[in-house]
Amino acid sequence: MRYNENLIVEIVETARSLYQRGYSFGTAGNISVRASDRIYITPTNSCFGALTVETMSELDLNGNRLSGNVPSKETHFHLSAYRARPEASAVVHLHSTYATAVSCLRELDMEDALPIFTPYFAMRIPKLPVVPYLPPGDPMLAPEVERCAAVSPAMLLRNHGPITTGKTLIEAAALSEELEEQSKLYFLLNGAGQQLTIDEVAELRRRFR
Ligand SMILES: [Zn+2]
Repeated sequence: MRYNENLIVEIVETARSLYQRGYSFGTAGNISVRASDRIYITPTNSCFGALTVETMSELDLNGNRLSGNVPSKETHFHLSAYRARPEASAVVHLHSTYATAVSCLRELDMEDALPIFTPYFAMRIPKLPVVPYLPPGDPMLAPEVERCAAVSPAMLLRNHGPITTGKTLIEAAALSEELEEQSKLYFLLNGAGQQLTIDEVAELRRRFR
């Protein structure tokens, strides 16, 4: 049995659930959890539908591998998200279809990428900043993710996909699903949507802080 085995099992099960419900495909995406001085992250080139407890990468807080397989090549931005959000204990990064489609829009508000149509999105996501395009694995992604994570638990990587954080893995995964559904609504509405007003959004955020 590995140190923090229950947490690792939770990552394996969450990843499988996301895969089975179409939020992940192929070897896209990565998930990590932070527990005291350890980070557990999905290995490089692994499929969310076929992870095992034994292969999960165990790292120290600087990203050095302690056990398990070689970690995701996107590990560096997980570390920077944790640096920016001391309360976060989980990071979920997907290439889910609709949120990724938003990240590819020709015209995109890089400070806050999506209009607000529904109360839950307003309550859970204070804004949706976008990290400028950089190739996967580029070391410059880390400081950019750190900057965005400091202002929101959710962000988009330009032409790539979403990242969410949470106090728990359940919370981070739920935020990813919320973001994917809101992105889907955005395309379904195709410009015909009635956004919540600035006052309605402010009232929701005051009430449900
Ligand atoms: Zn990615």
